[in-house]
Amino acid sequence: MVIGKSSHFSCAANFLRGRKCIFCGSFKVLRTARGYVKCGGCGKTKSLSRLRREIAILQGFYQLQPAYRLAVDLGLDIKVVTRVYQRLREALFHLCELEGGRLKGEIELDEAYFGGRRKGRRGRGAAGKSVVFGLLEREGRVYTKVVESVSAETLMNHIKARTKKGSVYYTDAFRGYRSLKRFGKHHTVSHSKSFVDKRTKNHINGIEGFWSYAKHILYNYRGVSKYHFPMYLKEIEYRFNHRKENVFKQFLQIYFGYVSP
Ligand SMILES: [Zn+2]
Repeated sequence: MVIGKSSHFSCAANFLRGRKCIFCGSFKVLRTARGYVKCGGCGKTKSLSRLRREIAILQGFYQLQPAYRLAVDLGLDIKVVTRVYQRLREALFHLCELEGGRLKGEIELDEAYFGGRRKGRRGRGAAGKSVVFGLLEREGRVYTKVVESVSAETLMNHIKARTKKGSVYYTDAFRGYRSLKRFGKHHTVSHSKSFVDKRTKNHINGIEGFWSYAKHILYNYRGVSKYHFPMYLKEIEYRFNHRKENVFKQFLQIYFGYVSP
């Protein structure tokens, strides 16, 4: 693996050279005769060639490389690549739920439809699509949930579970949000075409920005099944919420810290 000039990847250099422990960060690492690294700090051992392979796969994951293409590029069996991808995605899925907490302040709410062949919104033409409810704290995090339906009850349950009462909510004019005013301040955006209400200047640009971010990444993956979709969605949520940080470094920590023995 060639370490790019990008500072994002330089954090992997000492792991790849076998100088730093991938599990605990200690520099007390010894190379064994059989190509393993053994850590004097945490006592763990790892095959250096396997470590290098996994880091290369995680770099491809970070760069949004589809598994089949990365497998060709690295000369690996696709199963090796997808195993690393899936394990990291599972960890990200759980992390997103744990990071949760309640959103507060100004919150934008919206639903979006992903996948399926037919275009359409809300009900008609929604068959085969995944329905996602998104909650975005302005200047903060997004939280997403795949839902069965966008009934007022479902939406309100998620709003109650994931936001602080008394927040300020921005939505479009969908009926499902009608009972929001009992939970906080509710502003409605009536011109969903521009996402900015010409009269009140209310908008839901933040969550709309997240939807296009998500669609861009999913397009890059060239089609995700409805079954796997929730996993991918949380990966995207994680990337979005940490977009100002070194996400590659976090992927290494998450994969080797929480996932790989
Ligand atoms: Zn260690």
